[in-house]
Amino acid sequence: MAFENLTDRLSKALKNLTGKGKIHEEDLQASLREIRLALLEADVSYATVKKFIANIKEKAKGAEILDGLNAPQQVVKIVNDELTALMGEEAAPLNKSEKIPTVIMMAGLQGAGKTTTVAKLAYKLKKEDKARPLMIAADVYRPAAIDQLEVLGKDLDIPVFSEGTDVDPREIVKHGLKEAKANKNDYVFIDTAGRLQIDEELMTELKDIATIASPDEILLTVDAMTGQNATETAQGFSDALDLTGVVLTKLDGDTRGGAALSIRDVTGKPIKFVGQGEKPTDLDVFYPDRMASRILG
Ligand code: GDP
Repeated sequence: MAFENLTDRLSKALKNLTGKGKIHEEDLQASLREIRLALLEADVSYATVKKFIANIKEKAKGAEILDGLNAPQQVVKIVNDELTALMGEEAAPLNKSEKIPTVIMMAGLQGAGKTTTVAKLAYKLKKEDKARPLMIAADVYRPAAIDQLEVLGKDLDIPVFSEGTDVDPREIVKHGLKEAKANKNDYVFIDTAGRLQIDEELMTELKDIATIASPDEILLTVDAMTGQNATETAQGFSDALDLTGVVLTKLDGDTRGGAALSIRDVTGKPIKFVGQGEKPTDLDVFYPDRMASRILG
């Protein structure tokens, strides 16, 4: 189960306080130490943990927690609020272009869930907003990616633009956008290639595609299971592209929580959606406060 260990340890750290009427300095310090360790073990990035703990200390001081009434509950609330703030406070809606089509480009490592997410998101918009999306298959390096998108498109009755694997992805995107204009599609999704690791050639290709398509959204797809690596990868993509948001996938797995908690801080970009399964309907809007409550258990 996602966050299992983290939830367990955080609630233990806080229970040490809630069992008490008043909180003494050393109790608070001990709990904060425990929270800090729990976060580090959950793979939250070191810099993020440091900032997080410093913020809690500051807030606890401001709230005159020590020796005050309802102090334990106040600490729990501060931790809850800080977790929420860390993940972005409010849900962040998709950017929408004033003129159709709104162009949404995906980026991320191979296997992160880009292709799956394109189909999920296109389906969500089709179902909820009666949108008429077009999905462009621009991952020419993994032939199965094109087939995968075509199969999904067929199942969900969403058109896919593809030109196989022999055409340069930049050209595919140009042609796909033309097709979308001709067909008056209101959303265009660009499924791009990934690699096992970030490399220069991939980044150049993605930058070129972004220049050609001027996307309204560049969504970084991050596998929540990849922990500390996820933050490094996010940093790499964030340096190369003007990301507008993040989709965190595989939250149905037993992620320790690091990516969910660090990614906003590392990229400065909101998590907009979470993938919670392999089915087309397993995509949800990300609500930082709900996720904080889920993590705190
Ligand atoms: P891409 O290489 O980035 O396009 O990744 P894919 O979309 O092909 O996804 C890689 C694998 O992860 C596939 O087997 C997907 O079914 C799976 N996957 C994607 N999103 C999720 C998710 O939210 N939960 C689970 N359990 N699996 C997912």
